[in-house]
Amino acid sequence: MPETTLEVTPALLIPPHLVGQIQSKLAYVDEAIAAARVAESGDRITLALRAAGREGEIEAKVQRVVQEMAQGGIAPRVEILEDHLDRPVSYAADPLAELLARREVYEESTGIFTFGPLMSRLIEYFESRFLELAAHFDAQPYRFPTLMSAEFLDRVDYFRAFPHSLTFATHLREDLDIINQFAEKAKYEGRGLNAPAEFFSQVQALLSPAVCYHLYFSLADHPLPDGQLIATSVGTCFRYESTNLTSLERLWNFTMREVIFVGSKDFVLEHRERSRQFMQAIFEELGLAYRVETANDPFFVGEFRKQAAFQTAFQLKYEIRARLPFKDSTLAIGSYNYHQDFFGRHLGITLPDGKPIHTGCTAFGLERVAYAFLAQHGFDPAAWPVAVREALV
Ligand code: AMP
Ligand code: ZN
Repeated sequence: MPETTLEVTPALLIPPHLVGQIQSKLAYVDEAIAAARVAESGDRITLALRAAGREGEIEAKVQRVVQEMAQGGIAPRVEILEDHLDRPVSYAADPLAELLARREVYEESTGIFTFGPLMSRLIEYFESRFLELAAHFDAQPYRFPTLMSAEFLDRVDYFRAFPHSLTFATHLREDLDIINQFAEKAKYEGRGLNAPAEFFSQVQALLSPAVCYHLYFSLADHPLPDGQLIATSVGTCFRYESTNLTSLERLWNFTMREVIFVGSKDFVLEHRERSRQFMQAIFEELGLAYRVETANDPFFVGEFRKQAAFQTAFQLKYEIRARLPFKDSTLAIGSYNYHQDFFGRHLGITLPDGKPIHTGCTAFGLERVAYAFLAQHGFDPAAWPVAVREALV
């Protein structure tokens, strides 16, 4: 339970386009922060603290985040590629309450949800529609592990860009005494296991934060034989979102279906665009109210300004943002990404002419698609768009 509230007046007025992005970073500023809110007006930050006594220190850290993320930043020009936000919807409540009441979702632990038959059928159906995109491109199927190599993540600078959301896989050190002590004494206490940090091994693997990276890693240090490849895979992804893990909107553990393009710049850009056009017809059949607009990845504080501006300026990321009628906002259910030759350069994957390959991917967050669909169309199949009703009822 929060003990005290801390109001902070940011030294810099937070511009509207950074209100959400700074708010989500405040979760990582101090373990005492239970919740953080940046006012829409950008001139006030309200923090709920778990304990009183360190307000000055916490405020200084908050000011550093604001400074680093907002100083000198110019508002990006958001390009809208498609706007179907006014598509008719028939539901106006947050589906989470109903899903919990029906035991359709169960929160096993913070950000970790199990899904019952309705959510599972919806997810399976939406995924089948995404597989139509994969089939359209004759994408080759791949199966990737849930664990991801720390060595490869280092090679692609992931630790610098997204350190806050990493989830590490570790195990007990190979030591008879440590394993025996753990077996005898391990207990879940308070907010976690009581085992001392020195019992655990060094980190060789993390839980995958994305799907397509596995493909690039598997192609590393070689020329790409035919100079191009289209692949598809589905995988469980992990992004630790701290106190932002408050509903089905943000999960620690979620599932992504990706269609991945590897080849020349023109090949990747053309397929990214063809993906968007193909999906436009499918989203119409699904009756989804959404829009597609330029966006940036949630880089951590120090990297944010430069990287986010670069991504937006070069239109490297388009998000598919579905309407959530109950809160008059939108939620990203997928993205169309172009990484330029970033992975080609860092991983030594080359085209037949020796130049680094380009990559891109179309990614769908399956739990979010189902959640956004229920938020727009509710639980009565009679009110669902025909295609979904016929497939599921
Ligand atoms: P991204 O690679 O960040 O564009 O992620 C692709 C898609 O995965 C997003 O558009 C979301 O639909 C989904 N996604 C990303 N992070 C989360 C999360 N924490 N919880 C649930 N879905 C997520
Ligand atoms: Zn991807």
